[in-house]
Amino acid sequence: VHLVNQIAAGEVIERPSSIVKELVENSLDAGSGRIRVEAERGGARRIRVSDDGCGISRDELALALSAHATSKIESLDDLEGVATLGFRGEALPSIASVSRLRLASRPAGADSGFELEAEAGKVGEVRPAGMPEGTVIEVRDLFYNTPARRKFMRTERTEFGHIDDLLKRLALARMDVALDLAHDGRMVRSLAPAADEATRNRRVAAVCGEAFMEQAIVLEEAHAGLRLTGWIARPGFSRSQADLQFFFVNGRLVRDRLVAHAVRQAYRDVLFHGRHPAFALMLELDPQRVDVNVHPQKHEVRFRDGRLVHDFLFKTIHHALSGTRP
Ligand code: ADP
Ligand code: MG
Repeated sequence: VHLVNQIAAGEVIERPSSIVKELVENSLDAGSGRIRVEAERGGARRIRVSDDGCGISRDELALALSAHATSKIESLDDLEGVATLGFRGEALPSIASVSRLRLASRPAGADSGFELEAEAGKVGEVRPAGMPEGTVIEVRDLFYNTPARRKFMRTERTEFGHIDDLLKRLALARMDVALDLAHDGRMVRSLAPAADEATRNRRVAAVCGEAFMEQAIVLEEAHAGLRLTGWIARPGFSRSQADLQFFFVNGRLVRDRLVAHAVRQAYRDVLFHGRHPAFALMLELDPQRVDVNVHPQKHEVRFRDGRLVHDFLFKTIHHALSGTRP
């Protein structure tokens, strides 16, 4: 079983940021309103994610670390409309198989918490733990037992950069959740939940930069069950930054060719030379109209009506850039 988990880990867990991704998605699944991520040495030494979500009961702690026990997909219908972000039921066992992991949780309303440790997938005893309501997962010494994998990790700075990028994406996808990020004991980001337009703008500025926000065009357009909101840079926005390109489909970050093409076309059409367009856009549509599980790790999606989506994106952005109604 440990070997199976380690192989699974190879697919899900490439680097520290992959772990942060899985842990934070679990925290979101648990309905958390505040999530705190702490990393040490780029996350290789230690990653700690704590939340104020629903928690895990004493009886289910060990289960959370055993493979395939928790998969939420039980039928084809589930696959069609996966609403929650996690669905494989193997992230925690995979992470535990390549690290030293501590899982502590106190369900909402319970009068105490419990904790459990695992080392290279070997799960220990459940013990009482003093803690507030919510869940804390600590992952230490990533890949300590798989040296070949450890070699692929980059510098601490690069690995932390990946974690920060991930947090930025999450910050935009889930404006309602408070997010804190610390590295080596230093607070790097502390994002309050966006309750209204002002706080939402502040959050976008914190992620995309003040310079972007000052000149950005605000989008809000709906058509044929598609809704596009967000911010795009005016033609001529001087910061040539390829990484200022966020596109979310139903709250999930997407790097999709159809989307990229529509955006690029629109910019190109309005005399936008040489630079990468900058944008933070959110597309919402009926989950039945988009297949998000094409490549869970690759951020690709498949739209049922791709042409309609492409045209809608192109026209909306084009219109906003050129300042004319379509
Ligand atoms: P999945 O998210 O695909 O179900 P995971 O291995 O990521 O599988 O998590 C296993 C299970 O542990 C989850 O289904 C959930 O029940 C529980 N769990 C993990 N993290 C949390 C958390 N932060 N809060 C509450 N429950 C959690
Ligand atoms: Mg999960």
